[in-house]
Amino acid sequence: MNSKHPINICVLGGGFSGLYTALYLSNHPQVKSGSWKITLVERNDNFLFTPLLYELITGELQRWEIAPTYQKLLAGTSIKFCQQIIKKIDLDNRQVRLDNDDNLNYDYLVLGLGTQNHWVDIPGLKDHALTFRTLQDLEQLQAKIHYLETLERKHLRVAIIGGGPNGVELSCKLADRLEKQAEVLLIDRGNQILKGFSKGVRNASYRALGSRRVQLYLNTNVEEIQEDLIVLNHGEQTINVPVDMVVWVAGTQSRKLIKILNCQQTNLGKLLTNSRLQLIDYPEVFALGDLAEISNQKTRIPATAQAAYQQASCVSKNIAAIIEGKPLKSFNYLHLGDMLTLGRRTAIISSYGINLSGQLGGMMRRLAYIFRLPTMRHRLQVLRNFVQKIGLKIRRFFRGILVSLLGQKSSSKYSK
Ligand SMILES: Cc1cc2nc3c(=O)[nH]c(=O)nc-3n(C[C@H](O)[C@H](O)[C@H](O)COP(=O)(O)OP(=O)(O)OC[C@H]3O[C@@H](n4cnc5c(N)ncnc54)[C@H](O)[C@@H]3O)c2cc1C
Repeated sequence: MNSKHPINICVLGGGFSGLYTALYLSNHPQVKSGSWKITLVERNDNFLFTPLLYELITGELQRWEIAPTYQKLLAGTSIKFCQQIIKKIDLDNRQVRLDNDDNLNYDYLVLGLGTQNHWVDIPGLKDHALTFRTLQDLEQLQAKIHYLETLERKHLRVAIIGGGPNGVELSCKLADRLEKQAEVLLIDRGNQILKGFSKGVRNASYRALGSRRVQLYLNTNVEEIQEDLIVLNHGEQTINVPVDMVVWVAGTQSRKLIKILNCQQTNLGKLLTNSRLQLIDYPEVFALGDLAEISNQKTRIPATAQAAYQQASCVSKNIAAIIEGKPLKSFNYLHLGDMLTLGRRTAIISSYGINLSGQLGGMMRRLAYIFRLPTMRHRLQVLRNFVQKIGLKIRRFFRGILVSLLGQKSSSKYSK
């Protein structure tokens, strides 16, 4: 490598894999001295901590807490932020084409562009269903909820399609947000929700859905979606269910930009890497997060923030190692457990065989995620807000006790 020019490390995507890789790398002395240059390319101006997106529906968290701007997160680091849509990646010429027609040349590339919604061929799906992955999706959902609330109708019906974690969490939060006004339907073509999750998580989820009267439609296919109707097929039966809102959370797929790359991929269009997270034929390119899969891996690494976050640490170390001519390390995924929000202030945490649910689970989940937020400064700001809110609740709780005690005292005075 030519030691005269700075080494260009280009990170594509500012999600869990890209942003965290860039942040880990930014602590390296060679980055601080300017010998290695990091450019982070991302189309949005806000990072999104997706596991807490549901909390914006119920107003438990504010937008700044889970979606800080990159400008704020990267202040004080030497990472160059480039807010652009990536149009093309040329692996052979080591070049990235941006929406403004600029080309970025790189020595090392990190691919962390995630995946996108998987639309299947259901008539009316794209026209009538909302999705729930981004801040824009949340805004559309909030607007629709607001509109439905203004109708002042006594009975609303909301259908969520997809019984994975997103569907379950969204059903519970929407049921709490719309309270008695709406009936929530959770539809899945399989015979159970949360496939692959532990029994403890599934049982807690069934209880949470049941207590919120969420109607489960299992072994059910969606045949068509109209503006105010959803056509379901269950066994031999076809049912027309009037609905006010439909949300599609049934899967993701690779982006076209990734699928057309000239490198080895799985049948589903995921980029194949070796155990050090390098593309098979391009050792200077690292791929991680939802868009990648390690070749010949015995157990599949889940497409989760938890995995992307761990891979980011491995990639940042391997980039430093490759530049410094040191041996690279294989990625070892450590499953720390599962955490699902199951309604307002409620969650299930399952880790190493221990399950914690209810409000305590909700509080522990919130704390665990606060410590996973991207920078120390941001973590502290959110933590301070959280502690203040808890302090307020404790004060209200004791004030309530005091008021009722004083009330009893004065009523006993009059009853004498
Ligand atoms: C609602 C929701 C809740 C979730 N909850 C959990 C949870 O509780 N626990 C958990 O572990 N995981 C959870 N996940 C999954 C988790 O969000 C993903 O696994 C994780 O985000 C993957 O990280 P990534 O970096 O691969 O992709 P992403 O985080 O999706 O990042 C990709 C980035 O690339 C950018 N990008 C894409 N294309 C372009 C382009 N052409 N030009 C410029 N920029 C581009 C995107 O804007 C995005 O910022 C949840 C996901 C969702 C949607």
